[in-house]
Amino acid sequence: MSSIIRLLEPALINRIAAGEVIERPTSVIKELLENSLDAQASEIHVTVRGGGQSLMRVQDNGHGMNEEDLILSVQRHTTSKLAHSDLWNIHTFGFRGEALASITSISKTTLTSKTKDQPHGWSLHSEGGSLEALKPARCELGTCIEIRDLFFATPARLKFLRSPAQEYRHLNGCLERFLLLNPQVQFFLHLDEKQKVFKATSLEHRIKAVLNVAVLEGFWLEETVHDIHITGWASLPGAHRRQADRIFLYVNQRPVDDRMMIHTIRSAYHDLIPKDRYPWAILFLTIPYVDVDVNVHPAKTQVRFKSPQDIRAALLTTLRKVLFEQGKKSISIYPK
Ligand code: ADP
Ligand code: MG
Repeated sequence: MSSIIRLLEPALINRIAAGEVIERPTSVIKELLENSLDAQASEIHVTVRGGGQSLMRVQDNGHGMNEEDLILSVQRHTTSKLAHSDLWNIHTFGFRGEALASITSISKTTLTSKTKDQPHGWSLHSEGGSLEALKPARCELGTCIEIRDLFFATPARLKFLRSPAQEYRHLNGCLERFLLLNPQVQFFLHLDEKQKVFKATSLEHRIKAVLNVAVLEGFWLEETVHDIHITGWASLPGAHRRQADRIFLYVNQRPVDDRMMIHTIRSAYHDLIPKDRYPWAILFLTIPYVDVDVNVHPAKTQVRFKSPQDIRAALLTTLRKVLFEQGKKSISIYPK
């Protein structure tokens, strides 16, 4: 009897993977930003039209790719980042080598890139994962990735697209996380008709530019509890919000979504702000790489801690300590 099991076509495998990696247009921008930052860009332009469905473009001045790497970059499981087979020691945003393969399989994508050693750049166009021939391109050092018609190859996902207004809310949340993490990088945002420039600056000035509040009192903190190092900024109890959307968390320089951490931060403020409200906080945790697993989900925003109770204790200790001293130590992020 002949077998009925067969290997799926590569294009189909990529589209299946894209279902997890690219949930919505904002996921594309997140992956492209991570790649630009991994490529050491100091300047990044982000252009989005129609909530991302008609156009998304991320252009950077990072180290770029040569023509061979351009072709490899859109293949599945191809990466320049995971040099050793060590999933416990990942210092880059990317490591799975699947974002570009997924994105190109479900959209019309043009990648243009130039390295410092090349006289000119190269451009590669893909429609639903089928590649056209490489073309020479006139461009500066760096990479530009342009995506049109996202999900055109996956009609089921296309149906779930929300309105552009809703998508821009997600997108802003994503952009804020990267803006706060990388104050040293200059960002140019072009979202439909809205344009905004965030100049390279200090964290303090970037917080001020991103949070966009008149005056918000808070404190800087820095504390090491065992081998967990915590730095950042948090609001004084006077400011609080109904949602946790002003809590930005980073573990080893990676933006993370973590309910346990948000819950812990709120409990540090529990007798100081009304119940069911959240403070503002931007916290950077540095912990030994072996104590955190970043390979939990393809979108890489969730992490698994080896001992969550230590993270919880370190956060509580740090925040409670400063909150108790708030009267003496508090400073504004808008110093005179
Ligand atoms: P990963 O980031 O996990 O390696 P991706 O699919 O996102 O996987 O990217 C594949 C490869 O393409 C990267 O490892 C990198 O070498 C290259 N690449 C992608 N984007 C850029 C960029 N903006 N600048 C330079 N190289 C890039
Ligand atoms: Mg990547």
